[in-house]
Amino acid sequence: AESGGGGRKKPNILVTGTPGTGKTTTSYLLAEATLLRHVNVGDLVRDKNLHDGWDDQLDCHVINEDLVCDELEDMMEEGGNIVDYHGCDFFPERWFDLVAVLQTENSVLYDRLSKRGYTGSKLTNNIECEIFQVLLEEAKDSYPEDIVVALQSDTVDDINRNVTTLTDWVRSWCPKPE
Ligand code: ADP
Ligand code: MN
Repeated sequence: AESGGGGRKKPNILVTGTPGTGKTTTSYLLAEATLLRHVNVGDLVRDKNLHDGWDDQLDCHVINEDLVCDELEDMMEEGGNIVDYHGCDFFPERWFDLVAVLQTENSVLYDRLSKRGYTGSKLTNNIECEIFQVLLEEAKDSYPEDIVVALQSDTVDDINRNVTTLTDWVRSWCPKPE
């Protein structure tokens, strides 16, 4: 019963990576192509108040990981979710059949985050997060190595290729026996 799949009829995919690497764009297009459900965790945290206030230092909500996991549990058990979040170590390992880590070249990411209005330490923290491959390491530490894939996300062509790759993976996924 502990094996991947957990009896779900459709797979769960985690799309993670540094802010600005294209998680939401990729997840949106993947959901369109596969009819899986796009779960934007950042939006969920804001809309359902799954946080413990605002962190002035980091300029973001202090996410309440227990509340987020409780909120998602039933949906994840059912399967068929694309979870979009810039963190991955607090979700139960059993939830995911595939963990895609998006990666973007530093100068490209710098321009994207600047355009988004990031400046100062918020900008440099995120660039450093990407340089040191923090999310890839976090994913490898938190999930079986054979379900973690790194996908380059510098260009629109990259997005299209990644969506095609992930769509093919979804279509060939088979439920695991319970
Ligand atoms: P995230 O959800 O990881 O923060 P978004 O999907 O919101 O990233 O993308 C941030 C911005 O960068 C958006 O304006 C998006 O259009 C652009 N973008 C993201 N990935 C790519 C890519 N591979 N090629 C070109 N533009 C991209
Ligand atoms: Mn996003």
